[in-house]
Amino acid sequence: MKTKEILRKARKFAAPFRVVRGDKFRLDAYDPEDTLGLKSEDKERAKEALAAGIETLAELQDRLYAQDKWAVLLIFQAMDAAGKDGAIKHVMSGVNPQGCQVYSFKAPTSEDLDHDYLWRCMRCLPERGRIGIFNRSYYEETLVVRVHPELLERQKLPPQLVTRKIWKQRFRDIRNFERYLAGNGVAICKFFLHVSKKEQKRRFLERLENPEKNWKFSSADLKERGFWREYREAYEDMIRHTAAPHAPWYVVPADNKWFTRVAVAAAVIDTLASLKLAYPELAEAQRKELAAARRALLAE
Ligand code: ATP
Ligand code: MG
Repeated sequence: MKTKEILRKARKFAAPFRVVRGDKFRLDAYDPEDTLGLKSEDKERAKEALAAGIETLAELQDRLYAQDKWAVLLIFQAMDAAGKDGAIKHVMSGVNPQGCQVYSFKAPTSEDLDHDYLWRCMRCLPERGRIGIFNRSYYEETLVVRVHPELLERQKLPPQLVTRKIWKQRFRDIRNFERYLAGNGVAICKFFLHVSKKEQKRRFLERLENPEKNWKFSSADLKERGFWREYREAYEDMIRHTAAPHAPWYVVPADNKWFTRVAVAAAVIDTLASLKLAYPELAEAQRKELAAARRALLAE
């Protein structure tokens, strides 16, 4: 397949999952099992498409790096066992590690809590020419912290600043922050890997029953599962308040891993393709310099 064809297909594939305006967003309009009509017999073809996509992604990343103007920020959010780690691993498998930085955001440290909540993420923003991946992010501040208000109490905020409006204020902060980033040449692409409660149960059981997967199980995950409805509402509200054309959310069906990976790859390819990346062109003087260097080498 030609690159142009891959770019066209990626755009078409990612489009149904892209959310650029939140006002009418409803999570139940998105089916975690959706495969855009592809059947499990199509799995092999999907894997081939993913391989072709990964090659295209590597080419785009090479241009991103050479051009050194844009930075790309990919944000991954999901319930446990939705496949964030696997999606990141597979989709980024072809890119040059030097041009890519992955950060996982866990519960904040005491140093983190001594600062405003965006601080720890700001320090990890990608440099120009790079792809930065946030495996969880500042969005946890409107998810886990909202579902468990005792976490907010530990944030050492002045009490008069903690009101009922705090979540609206956080959404506003995040919107402003992302607008600022976009205006400075950071292309933002956000993923919510949408897994069903039924599939999460299946994956947790697999982690418990398969010795090679035991290490992935944590009883804390089971506890969070008990807050499924609260998380669902928090995710929906987050997307409603923070989807924007310059920082779209992709609500990717996550019950079938093979499909999730193709959809994530398609969205990343589409994001990079939209930047119109090109290798830098040399000025006349630089071209002359190269020609002189070539002559000097050949004359040795
Ligand atoms: P995996 O389980 O696949 O290794 P993970 O992202 O679930 O990956 P964990 O170490 O299991 O990693 O969990 C990280 C935990 O940190 C999550 O439960 C998440 O909600 C929590 N966390 C992240 N950011 C914050 C935050 N700002 N405040 C409180 N908890 C947070
Ligand atoms: Mg976990």
